[in-house]
Amino acid sequence: MSKPISKTLIIGLGLIGGSLAKALKINRHCGQIIGYDRDFEESKAGYNAGVIDLAIENLVDAVSTADLIVLAVPVKAMEKVLMDIAPFIAEDTLITDVGSTKGNVVAAAKRVFGDVPTGFVPGHPIAGSEKSGVAAADHTLFENHKVILTPLAESSSDSVNVFTRMWESTGAEVLVMNVDKHDEVLAATSHLPHMLAFSLVDTLAQEQDNNTDIFRYAAGGFRDFTRIAGSDPTMWHDICLANKQALLSQLDRYTAGLANLRAAIECGDSESMLGTFTRAKAAREHFSRILSGTAYSQHMSNQQVTFRAQPGGSVSGKIRVPGDKSISHRSIMLGSLADGVTEVTGFLEGEDSLATLQAFRDMGVVIEGPDAGNVTIYGVGVNGLQAPPGPLYVGNSGTSMRLLSGLLAAQAFDTELSGDESLTKRPMGRVADPLRLMGAEIETAENGRPPLKIKGGQSLKGIHYDMPMASAQVKSCLLLAGLYAEGDTSVTEPAPTRDHTERMLTGFGYPVEQNGSTAKVTPGGQLHATRIDVPADISSATFFMVAAAICPDSDLTIEHVGINPTRIGIINILRLMGANLELLNEREVGGEPVADIRIRYAPLKGIHIPEDQVPLAIDEFPAIFIAAISAEGTTVVSGAEELRVKESDRIQAMVDGLKILGADIEGTEDGAVIQGGTLTGGTVESHDDHRIAMAFAVASLRSTGTITINECANVATSFPGFVELAQSAGIKVEKEKG
Ligand code: NAP
Repeated sequence: MSKPISKTLIIGLGLIGGSLAKALKINRHCGQIIGYDRDFEESKAGYNAGVIDLAIENLVDAVSTADLIVLAVPVKAMEKVLMDIAPFIAEDTLITDVGSTKGNVVAAAKRVFGDVPTGFVPGHPIAGSEKSGVAAADHTLFENHKVILTPLAESSSDSVNVFTRMWESTGAEVLVMNVDKHDEVLAATSHLPHMLAFSLVDTLAQEQDNNTDIFRYAAGGFRDFTRIAGSDPTMWHDICLANKQALLSQLDRYTAGLANLRAAIECGDSESMLGTFTRAKAAREHFSRILSGTAYSQHMSNQQVTFRAQPGGSVSGKIRVPGDKSISHRSIMLGSLADGVTEVTGFLEGEDSLATLQAFRDMGVVIEGPDAGNVTIYGVGVNGLQAPPGPLYVGNSGTSMRLLSGLLAAQAFDTELSGDESLTKRPMGRVADPLRLMGAEIETAENGRPPLKIKGGQSLKGIHYDMPMASAQVKSCLLLAGLYAEGDTSVTEPAPTRDHTERMLTGFGYPVEQNGSTAKVTPGGQLHATRIDVPADISSATFFMVAAAICPDSDLTIEHVGINPTRIGIINILRLMGANLELLNEREVGGEPVADIRIRYAPLKGIHIPEDQVPLAIDEFPAIFIAAISAEGTTVVSGAEELRVKESDRIQAMVDGLKILGADIEGTEDGAVIQGGTLTGGTVESHDDHRIAMAFAVASLRSTGTITINECANVATSFPGFVELAQSAGIKVEKEKG
């Protein structure tokens, strides 16, 4: 444990030193705040303005009695100051700095001390303004800003803790990073933009004849973009020298990008120009969502969304539910790998399929939209993907991660696939293991969990794989890897699973040989761009089918629903339970069968759900549990152990929730035994699982009290607009944000 801090010495009373001193003085966090500046007048001004408790002229005395020292001088002055104070620093004194670059400060400390003291922890507040000097000191400057600490191997964990608490007391959020990473990140995000702003204003200002006009007519964009050119020139001069290498490599990357854009403009290359602009716009939106804390479900779940569903009601009318998630994912993947331009309509703009879309943009594919379900993909061909600039983040989407791993295993470049907290708990060994048999090099975290680090440049060999479990994602992953392998790749499934990948590959003109339960691809083919009208998702339609099936007086038609034979388990199961369900206007759209589904209320009876229907309805079980509760007699679910490794352990989540609502239900290892009966109201947990949340909303139609469902933010992953559509159909559910 380090000793209590009774004296803190701030050296350099400018904007940053003064602001920190003032914040610490106000919150009384670090004892007496002593200020030193080479200009004693500045220190006195600081004292008079209430920034410090004591202004000193003699640095040596103050150094030898200080418990904590903050160097807040320009980076160029750090070494000189360290040299001046080093002989007087006590062994247990804690030292930090606020310099905008870290490599050079650490190098200076090593030159001065030889062995850097364990109390030294370099730091950098990511906050500031264009002002300087103690007069600009602002005790709120660091509130809600980040401070990066870059502890060295020598830094003791006690010292890191003290500085973390010090900065947190000013309202800042503390991050820890290594020195090189800090300098690289700051070169890209702060130093490079400052260089651009200085250079742009300087260039325009040199236009002799009309520079006043340029500045007079400059619109808000110019003002925003160049605001930072008002920063302190000396400080930026020092930063350029201090972080020279990292800044030069960022400037080189930027210059190359600008040269490409110039060339595209010069030769009227619209595709390149649009490529740059759409990628940049999409990236900006992606980052804005991350910055505002709403990107993908990881960030979405920061916002608490609760559903409150009032009892009773019935459902009727005509509705259309959002596009099929599986088909939306695959339309982006295969559209990207095709030659030519693929137009997609009815695309599901949910978080998961948007994660796939972003991943392909990150790999250089130009994709316009989505705009009201319309997406245009400028395919790059089977071998046209490019190395992404960083890890591909797929949020909550297991489909993206599993399917992409097959494609990426065969690329020439290395990639890393990462996801949110919930995805990080899901098993990926089931795809990594067979891919390794094909020759892929994939590293996973413990127990085969994400992130996946995939090594590029491997030559894959076709294999025959007998899947130990029925999984469309594993099958699709291997077939996609098979497009690049040497020799044929075939996959045999123990029970039928979704065949959207096979159908869509065929739709793109890439033959897939189907022989009983075995699908086979031969490498070396080409995909040809096409049009895809994504059918409505039967898994989303399920909640409404069950709603109408369990609720007297209901008569509901759900339009344009995909009824792929590998997905119609829910229709078969509801029919076996006695539901009155008709398929109208059956037709085929882009290789996929589609129909309007009409469901009218009829009393349901409990059944033992045939195990061969389980894989055909695997995502529908949360809703099927609700149908079972509303049926007369006992319903038995078995052979559904897969449900335990979905977004949540769906068996446990449904059993726990239904018990809270008074149901008679017992979970088993691979399913549940459910007695028909009535439900009371209560508060249930969805465990951040969209389908659990929607199933309990439907349950309210048959409950006697209000059902409150926690953690529903993830409903947006598969069913944007669920609450509004449910209300329009007659379910009395409301969304509350916390
Ligand atoms: P500033 O307002 O100019 O303050 C620096 C102060 O240090 C001035 O009062 C300066 O005195 C004094 N000083 C210079 N050399 C000294 C020495 N050898 N001994 C004692 N005092 C000395 O600058 P700042 O913006 O606070 O920047 C300070 C540090 O914070 C820099 O390392 C900078 O990289 C870092 N930083 C700045 C920002 C920002 O946005 N401004 C953001 C994050 C981090 P004179 O006026 O006499 O030179």
